[in-house]
Amino acid sequence: MSLRLYNTLTRTKEEFVPRDPQNVRMYVCGPTVYDFAHIGNARPVIVFDLLFRLLRQVYGEAHVTYVRNITDVDDKINARALRDFPNLPLNEAIRNVTEKTANQFFADVAKLGCLEPTVQPRATDNIPQMITLIGMLLTRGHAYQAAGEVLFSVDSMPDYGRLSQRNLEDQQAGARIAVDAHKKNPADFVLWKLSSDDEPGWDSPWGRGRPGWHIECSAMSNRYLGEVFDIHGGGLDLIFPHHENEIAQTRCAFGTPVMANIWMHNGFLQVEGQKMSKSLGNFLTINELLADWPGEVLRFNMLRTHYRQPIDWTIKSLEESRRTLESFFNNVGTLHAEQGGFATPVLEALSDDLNTPKAIAGLHALDRPSAQNELGQTLKALGFTGNLASPHGGDAVDDTFVEALIAARLDARKAKNWAESDRIRDQLAGMGIAIKDDKDGTTSWEVKR
Ligand code: AMP
Ligand code: ZN
Repeated sequence: MSLRLYNTLTRTKEEFVPRDPQNVRMYVCGPTVYDFAHIGNARPVIVFDLLFRLLRQVYGEAHVTYVRNITDVDDKINARALRDFPNLPLNEAIRNVTEKTANQFFADVAKLGCLEPTVQPRATDNIPQMITLIGMLLTRGHAYQAAGEVLFSVDSMPDYGRLSQRNLEDQQAGARIAVDAHKKNPADFVLWKLSSDDEPGWDSPWGRGRPGWHIECSAMSNRYLGEVFDIHGGGLDLIFPHHENEIAQTRCAFGTPVMANIWMHNGFLQVEGQKMSKSLGNFLTINELLADWPGEVLRFNMLRTHYRQPIDWTIKSLEESRRTLESFFNNVGTLHAEQGGFATPVLEALSDDLNTPKAIAGLHALDRPSAQNELGQTLKALGFTGNLASPHGGDAVDDTFVEALIAARLDARKAKNWAESDRIRDQLAGMGIAIKDDKDGTTSWEVKR
């Protein structure tokens, strides 16, 4: 059966033909680890997990390589490290932030029924690969040094902008306000920038510095998947500039006509009809939702909408999702231990650009006594096991992290930095931790959820 996928590069649904059916290769941009992942971040994780499962069924488990990176170099991470651990050396503070956040992310997405990708590389483990790529771009005349930065020169690439279908003239017209004087073209972007002594940095031929965001994914995808691979995915906000710039770097470094054959982008998620934002108070982390809903209900709810459509995340639809899953599993009973597999109508629906609404209609059609086994196998293949105990609570509290935050808050109070101490108290409250300042100057805490 042929698999058809919508390709952002051509704006059409195309038949998927792997470059090497013995090794089907997919890269998906992973999280920047400075804070809890929100339910919008869960969308690409779930959607591409489903695609990973489908590819494994079609080509064989041993023949699919799925890479999803961890971005652990980013100025937002530095800011968070300074804020949360002002008394630690910066390196240690950064490691605290990225380790905790990455582990939280792994724990959260496992509960959403997502398989572990084949490789989950971290940017900080791939700095030499980035330096090599930047060196190649300089040698080939696609990059230049200016004002402490190495920049990619968009004018050096005739078809820059192909993925986002922007042309450079449009971009220049829009970029008049804050043109950086050191750039040859305002659309040129940073590959490497120098770090001051109190910023994280690595030695390079261009001085001690750190990579730009886009080069991280070019380096990691190249290392694990090669110069050209099959599928590259992420949310549609990444089309420009992130994916456009990944393409520019990789293609210009290796002189290839494409970086990945198929570019896939999931639509955005909003909550109860509104854009999710901290100021509106409707910002939902995966972890918070897991305190009230089984992970499998969150997964099912995500898959009810086709991945390219916008999704409106509502309590009503979560309740419907829970009822549907409960009814399926009431009929199926405990799932057999053996491997799952998609029933034909579900496989056909998924093979048509991951048509999950149609696949779910297929599940309903299987929901009858004579098809119980098929229904069970298919649910399993989709990542559902029937674990609907609810609520199963968020993660166990990490005592060391709580103690570190409390110590940071005490320091802030000593320095009469009340804004900071309040902020840390709120952060703890957000984690379900209530604190009490005792007369002897110590702070006690308890879990409140
Ligand atoms: P970020 O950490 O912001 O780079 O996002 C990680 C992934 O989540 C990217 O693939 C984003 O496109 C995706 N993403 C972020 N916000 C949303 C949202 N509200 N709906 C769907 N996907 C999102
Ligand atoms: Zn990326």
